Amino acid sequence: MTTSEQLFEKAKTLIPGGVNSPVRAFRAVGGNPIFIKSAKGPYLYDEDGRQYIELINSWGPMILGHAFEPVEKAVRDAVQYSFSFGAPTRKEVEMAELIVDMVPSVEKVRMVNSGTEATMAAIRVARGYTGRDKIIKFEGCYHGHGDSFLIAAGSGAVTMGVPDSPGVTKATAADTLTAPFNDLAAVEKLLINNQSQVAAIILEPVVGNMGCVLPEPGFLEGVRSLCDQYGALLIFDEVMTGFRLAKGGAQERFGITPDLTTMGKIIGGGMPVGAYGGRADIMNVVSPAGPVYQAGTLSGNPIAMSAGLAMLRHLQEHPEVYTRLEEIGTKLVDGFRAGLAKTGLTYTINHIGSMFTLFMTDRAVTNFSEAKTSDLALFGRYFQAMLKRGVYLAPSQFESLFLSVALSDDLVSQIIQANEESLQEAL
Ligand code: PLP
Repeated sequence: MTTSEQLFEKAKTLIPGGVNSPVRAFRAVGGNPIFIKSAKGPYLYDEDGRQYIELINSWGPMILGHAFEPVEKAVRDAVQYSFSFGAPTRKEVEMAELIVDMVPSVEKVRMVNSGTEATMAAIRVARGYTGRDKIIKFEGCYHGHGDSFLIAAGSGAVTMGVPDSPGVTKATAADTLTAPFNDLAAVEKLLINNQSQVAAIILEPVVGNMGCVLPEPGFLEGVRSLCDQYGALLIFDEVMTGFRLAKGGAQERFGITPDLTTMGKIIGGGMPVGAYGGRADIMNVVSPAGPVYQAGTLSGNPIAMSAGLAMLRHLQEHPEVYTRLEEIGTKLVDGFRAGLAKTGLTYTINHIGSMFTLFMTDRAVTNFSEAKTSDLALFGRYFQAMLKRGVYLAPSQFESLFLSVALSDDLVSQIIQANEESLQEAL
């Protein structure tokens, strides 16, 4: 038995399913999850001393690679001053200033501790601001595990077979309306049938949680104008895309201005952090400026702020990071496409910047139903073949991969080679 296997056996007796987040289990791909001991740059190291090339990067945050020195130093410096005060700090002001500077639509921002907290708060704010109860989300989008979002949810929820989770009350579920991604007509129909009842439309501007799915030309613009027409707020959930698809996230890349934005992952440099922000007049409804209550004992935690500040400052001061990410993404995806062609396969790859998914289907994937035409058994075999070759992918077809700048050209070539061999092996 490997050490990972021993740990998993014990973990299952102590933790539900042996993991603290379902996406970490290898349910969809078979086998035993590997237990990680450490990571540096582009590599993960497991408890058995095996090395893996990282293509998940902690589901997004480690865009600069693991244990990036300026972030590590910032955390070391910060711990000298204690770990939490439950009182305002200079670092929170610096963080707010930086986010407002980097994210085009954000005028005011509130720090929280996870992406889930950010999205839960954002819809409460939208409801408080508009006086309306319903929200529209898209099938296959994942916005964390808040009750309102576990309706036709993607990511681990669909991987585990529970896109509509037990435990969510009928009343809550009834307030969440869903439409297929990229389907403006369906959105408009919902708005017409629920006149003056929809507080907000929330979406991942590029979806990561049904695998990587891009907005078709005109889709984001269309949702923006439908929001304006029907008096609903537009919430961009940029927990994955924020600070990744551009310094200012997908909203900068696509030139669309949402009313509210939710953030997480990169913003904490690997520490547990989230944030939501937007137009000042909307954010001013948040307590204690206004009546919509939202709070957090550890929100704006000084260690987490230090890690996040070091990360965001680096991204702001080094725009070449984004150029390099585009380069790595293009090289890798071109290599994967060449691998598919050599093997005579016509599977779909969706790609933008440093996010991409190889879908095991011949169909174009523009929404959740198309993503679900993928051959999941084949994906499982492919995943295991890549793992055997030391490449760590997301253990589900319904996830995007996330690249870091720590990937050298040599490593990119190794991954391309592993992909080609793994496709052959998996068929
Ligand atoms: N929103 C999106 C788009 C996400 O991808 C995630 C998590 O993957 C969340 C929200 C929830 O964030 P967290 O897991 O930090 O609660």
